[in-house]
Order: sequence, then C-alpha cells, then structure tokens
Amino acid sequence: MKFQLLPSTFDENGNASARQHLACFVVDDLIAFDAGSLAMAATDEQKKQIRDVVISHAHLDHVAGLPLYIDDLFATIKRPIQIHATTEVIEILERDLFNWSIYPRFSELTNDYGVVLEYRPFEVEKDFTVKHLRVKAIKVNHKVPSVGFLVSDGKSSFALTNDTAEINRFWEVVNQQEKLSAIFVECAFPDELGELAASSHHLTPQVLQKEIAKLKRDCPIYVVNIKPMYFEQVTCQIKQLNIQNLQVLTVGRIYEL
Ligand SMILES: [Zn+2]
Repeated sequence: MKFQLLPSTFDENGNASARQHLACFVVDDLIAFDAGSLAMAATDEQKKQIRDVVISHAHLDHVAGLPLYIDDLFATIKRPIQIHATTEVIEILERDLFNWSIYPRFSELTNDYGVVLEYRPFEVEKDFTVKHLRVKAIKVNHKVPSVGFLVSDGKSSFALTNDTAEINRFWEVVNQQEKLSAIFVECAFPDELGELAASSHHLTPQVLQKEIAKLKRDCPIYVVNIKPMYFEQVTCQIKQLNIQNLQVLTVGRIYEL
C-alpha cells in the first residue's frame, strides 16, 4: 500500500516544503483521507483517479481543498466524488462549506454526466469499504466531532489518529490488530504550548509519550499534523523523547506500507 501526505506549500523551486499547513493523505493514488491540499498538490494522475475522499472532521485545514477539487474537475466528473464521513460531519459540510455563500452546494449540481458529488455516511466502529480498502472509524478526542481510522487493504494496514487530544478507545482498537504496518499520530504543538494544546484538543510531545505508552503494537510510528510555525521545535522535542520507531513523517514522500 502506498501512503503519502500531500504537500501544502512549496519553496521557490517548486519543491515540497517540510511544513504542513493542510492535511491530505493519499493511499495508492486513489483514495484521499482528508482533503486539505487535495486540489493544490495532487498530481495529474491522482486527479484522474481520486473520486473517494474520507473526511475525519470539518476543520478547514482538513477540507480546504475539497470544494476547489470538485470545482477543478467539475465538467469532467463521470463517476461522482464520494465523500465518506459521519452524518455529523456531512451536516457541517453542507451547512458551513457547501452553503452557496462559501462555495456552491455541489450535491445539488449536475454536469453532462450526472451528479458530481455524493455523500457516503459511515458509522463509527463499523467497517466500511472504500475501493479496495476496509476502513474503520474510531471516535477521537477533538474540539469538534472527529474520527481516526484503521485502514487495511488485506495485506497491510495502518492507523491514523487525525487531530486529537488524549485517547483511550482508539488505542484499544489499534491494540486488537494483529499486524500493523504503521501508525500516524498527530502532535500539533510544542511542550511550551501545553495549555493551548489542551484547550484546542491537540497533543504535545510530552503528552504523546504517554499516549504511545498505551500502545502494545510494535511498528513504525510517524508524527503528522505538526503546526507549521512549530515544526522545528516539535521535531526536536520528538527526537528528545528517544522512542524507538518514532519519527516525523516527511511531507510528500511516498511510503510503502
Ligand atoms: Zn482539527
């Protein structure tokens, strides 16, 4: 399975910046988990193929690229874009994003081939299928309704926390998995901003250390969703934890799981 965090910004030579402003994880060039930079950073090949987008929560850094992605492809969409999300998140997207004021309500629009957007609601802790992937959503601890994911293609599998503060149920479900190829875990703020992290329901390296202690699986753990302003600070503090298998995910790199 191919896993890639799409870049959010680029340097003057057009190379991906290490800083992550937006969240969009692409699996096998075919399925997007969150859509922060989907319109801005997906390759032409990915744009041709990606018609399924699984959304963790409706915060802007996770959905900013979604309306633009549908807009860019609008005339050419033959198979509608499928947005997989909980009903709570779908309601927020329809009310606050695709509301004709911020952007058109694509769920009510058609092109020459028919509808362009369909919602596929899923329930937490109930497996659902997205193309060749089996996905389970697990509620996490964020400021708004939000889920993490356990994802498998039958050969390899990974867990992704998305934005969250301390969690227990997520680790319980992950610990039930026999084989995991990787875990992607958030760590938004440095230790100095512990209060801000707690009030906005995010992790710091110190709190992440306690979270990882709940994990009983031995596999690579990659840190994602570091706030771009604190990238160097958080990266340094993650290294100082000196936890085997723990490293910061490289933006743009394709990981083979
Ligand atoms: Zn968030």
